[in-house]
Amino acid sequence: MRGRYAPSPTGRLHLGNARTALIAWLAARSRGASFVMRVEDLDPQRSRGELEAEQLADLRWLGLDWDEGPDVGGPHGPYRQSERVEAYAAALEGLEVFPCSCSRREVRELALAPHGREPIYPGTCRAGPRRPDRPLAIRWRTPAGVVTFVDRVQGCRSENVRRDVGEFVLRRADGVWAYQLAVVVDDQAMAIEQVVRGSDLIESTARQRLLQRALGYRETEYAHIPIVTGPDGSKLNKRHGAPDLSTMRLAGVDPRRVVAMLAASAGLIDAGQTHVQPRELVGGFDWGRIPPQSVSLVDVGLWNKEA
Ligand code: GLU
Repeated sequence: MRGRYAPSPTGRLHLGNARTALIAWLAARSRGASFVMRVEDLDPQRSRGELEAEQLADLRWLGLDWDEGPDVGGPHGPYRQSERVEAYAAALEGLEVFPCSCSRREVRELALAPHGREPIYPGTCRAGPRRPDRPLAIRWRTPAGVVTFVDRVQGCRSENVRRDVGEFVLRRADGVWAYQLAVVVDDQAMAIEQVVRGSDLIESTARQRLLQRALGYRETEYAHIPIVTGPDGSKLNKRHGAPDLSTMRLAGVDPRRVVAMLAASAGLIDAGQTHVQPRELVGGFDWGRIPPQSVSLVDVGLWNKEA
């Protein structure tokens, strides 16, 4: 079995990322699997080399290691998505696609999306781009039907991608490959069997499953780890003022304390245990203990309830 963690070097890792990475690593190591580190730096506008180095240093500081990755090499490389674009272009050849000239704004304006959801592509350019003079995105002629998958943590999920998302983008008009395609191509090329990632990505999973099927790839197993929220219940972000991993590392925080908080919040150790290293958790790892609900900073012990 092979597992992976796939950070995007677009910001510093926070406790939610660390919790997901720890669980992904434990899931792999507890079944003797290889662990792959893949850097998802597809978007050149948002990705930064310094952040990649910082993230990898943070993950090592926590006590995680990997058998293959951008810094250690390996037989399935390169391990940076920016260096893998030929593979995405080759995969695109195997799919039925069409060029689309719609801007995000136009899609949003035309789409009838329930409030707060991603707009559903209304099929504007299906028969040919409306504005062929513009830079064109590439969309997939998404097959109709319901996709069902079983998530290790969240249980059974179904989605009608064609109806609820529409024909989605595989390559943006600026030439940047879409995350949906890149992840599927890379997990296949890197022989990944189990995908462990944040639960905010569960909405993408049906799309990725459909792509795996259309391309004749292996169907990966999924586990979506609930997010860490601020004390107000919203997804952890800078405004909550929680320190990121680099800040803690550089401030000399003992990583075993951080791992203990994360492990306790994931039901892997008792709350009374204050120091632990990831490798001490390998033997006792059990998916059945990972709670399907999000946890707040208060639960991980990082927020003073009275404050
Ligand atoms: N690069 C994505 C992120 O950092 C994760 C993608 C994945 O694990 O499939 O959120």
